[in-house]
Amino acid sequence: MRSGFIGLVGRPNVGKSTLLNAIIGKKVAITSDKPQTTRNIIEGIRTDEDTQMVFVDTPGIHKPQNRLGKILNKQAYFTVNDVDVILFLVDITEKLGKGDMFVIDILKNVNIPVILVINKIDKLPKEEILKKIDEYKDLYNFDEIVPISAYKHDNIDRLIEVLKSKLTDNIKYYDEDMYTDKPVNFMVGELIREKILDLTHEEVPHSVSVVVEQMDYKKDAVDIKATIIVDRENLKKILVGKNGNMIKEIGTRARLDIEPLLNKNVYLELFVKVIPRWRDREKFLNEIGFKEFNFDK
Ligand code: GDP
Ligand code: MG
Repeated sequence: MRSGFIGLVGRPNVGKSTLLNAIIGKKVAITSDKPQTTRNIIEGIRTDEDTQMVFVDTPGIHKPQNRLGKILNKQAYFTVNDVDVILFLVDITEKLGKGDMFVIDILKNVNIPVILVINKIDKLPKEEILKKIDEYKDLYNFDEIVPISAYKHDNIDRLIEVLKSKLTDNIKYYDEDMYTDKPVNFMVGELIREKILDLTHEEVPHSVSVVVEQMDYKKDAVDIKATIIVDRENLKKILVGKNGNMIKEIGTRARLDIEPLLNKNVYLELFVKVIPRWRDREKFLNEIGFKEFNFDK
């Protein structure tokens, strides 16, 4: 069996999570129209008769703003240097900008194949797609350029064929029925966070974190308690909503996604807690899973 690690690199919002889900065929990464949705490296695994691909989703390479931003950036660099192939994803409707040049500069220092994936081609007519491909051709000596629509699953098969041709390892890293190596409580928290992103506006997303505090497995159901953490009182108000309507809606939608994940009925209890400036709190970052960076308590 041929296998390998594939790094997904690209600015926020270009469609990395959507592509990952399209390739894996399951929801392994949450997606959103708000930038910086992905906070952890999420591995999606795709196994067929003769190949295994292990995908590493990056939070995007961007300018760090606070401590959390810095950690995200570290993860992005880690990814670039630690994989066998890089998928550099761009959004065809966005102008080439500083952000892209920044990424291309980083890619100049890596010695592995880089595949340019031009996403969201469903949004433009054919002639313009070809023009864009030409623009990118001049920037860097990409191994391959593959235009796709992650959202409409257009040309994903072609991308998979291209990827297969770049894999060189000779080992099966994971069982064939595994499609992620994330613990189930992390996946549950991510699904809740996705519903919050879907249902709220600009001011909320960046300061929200979900901690799954309890998963109690009963005979044919699971009792889940999770806390949504925000850094301001007014955000708590928004999340609870009038008569608790918002939190109820978040819970209902999340439950509908969590039940197929666990294959059980789910009773989901959500709480909202205010912790001021949580993003800069080292201890707190530790508790929500950024353990690999070893903050001192
Ligand atoms: P990420 O930040 O790179 O992980 O981006 P996401 O996967 O979260 O996608 C950002 C937004 O772009 C979401 O609203 C997606 O639905 C949308 N999107 C992703 N791929 C496509 C595509 O191929 N076509 C269109 N029209 N929208 C897409
Ligand atoms: Mg993402």
